[in-house]
Amino acid sequence: MKKINKIFRKKTKRIYIRKVPIGNNAVISVQSMTTTKTTEIKKTVKQIMSLKNAGADIVRISVPDKKSAEAFKIIRNKTNIPLVADIHFDYRIAIESIKNGADCIRINPSNIGSIKRIQSILEYAKDYNVPIRIGINSGSIEKKIIKKYKYPNAKAMLESAMNCINIFEKMNFQNFKLSVKSSNVLDTIQCYKLLSCHTDHPMHLGITESGNLQNGTIKSSIGIGSLLLQGIGDTIRVSLSENPIEEVKVGLKILNALEIRKYGVNIISCPTCARKEFDVIKIANSLEKKLSNISEPIDVAIMGCSVNGPGESKISQVGVSGLKNKSALYINGIRKKKIKNSLILKELKKNIQKIIEIKNKYRKKNEK
Ligand code: SF4
Repeated sequence: MKKINKIFRKKTKRIYIRKVPIGNNAVISVQSMTTTKTTEIKKTVKQIMSLKNAGADIVRISVPDKKSAEAFKIIRNKTNIPLVADIHFDYRIAIESIKNGADCIRINPSNIGSIKRIQSILEYAKDYNVPIRIGINSGSIEKKIIKKYKYPNAKAMLESAMNCINIFEKMNFQNFKLSVKSSNVLDTIQCYKLLSCHTDHPMHLGITESGNLQNGTIKSSIGIGSLLLQGIGDTIRVSLSENPIEEVKVGLKILNALEIRKYGVNIISCPTCARKEFDVIKIANSLEKKLSNISEPIDVAIMGCSVNGPGESKISQVGVSGLKNKSALYINGIRKKKIKNSLILKELKKNIQKIIEIKNKYRKKNEK
């Protein structure tokens, strides 16, 4: 997990979800959420492990009832990745989840009920040293606030969040982070910006209910990306109507694109045109699929011809620039040899693996 951190980031307070630091310039973590029934323990653990293998740092699990809270306890003992219990409506389930080993709980105080109930949760969270995410969502803002603003807009979400912060701070509870998510990208951006002026608690970024893979990726990239560019945000979750593994992949790609954090194979490939000398699209797709389990950061250029091919290949660790029948292979910016166009995929894979092996060897040597 290489931290590059070229973008200025607002200094926030630090909290820990298990051992993962959030805030105060910590590496921006990527979160996702299980989609299985929590009571189906085997399936849930399997999905958590897949999310972890895809690069998730933190996984959230819905805990809608007592049985799920009991299942949470068993699940907690089967993995060491930080687990967040997602609670709505019932403060007793929140308390039960804290007792059952949650590393963090997410509540939307607006739907927990009375302040007394929120305070009970905070007392347990204090005793067990469990952080809380105040998760404000445009779909469930307090009725009186909606009445005031007519719509669940940025100002309404901000007021809801500020009310919660006041309750938490009055109780002398500082171990929390905040999210103010809307399915509207502009409202979300505006609300996080306003909130960031009012508080230095860490921020969990996301666009809620952002849709399927394509829509959700676009909305999340704009929403999360533009906030990160303004220095706002300490942890992210991309929310998609898809297999949650895609959420992790998109989240990591957003951080990769902003060079906040480098993770896995970063493919630089051209859109192709009549000049292309080999099937760039097929090779780029195939390579991305085959190397999706690699966490080591590596830039790979796959370029159809010599117009932009040499330039991109020279700034990548592995690159190929299309030429007639045989193309030019670059390793660490240096043109090494010509390879048959029919062997490009095989050669790229071989050389990527080789570089990763060398990096791993070097890292292990340094760790000794
Ligand atoms: Fe076309 Fe060559 Fe540019 Fe690719 S690199 S889009 S093949 S001109």
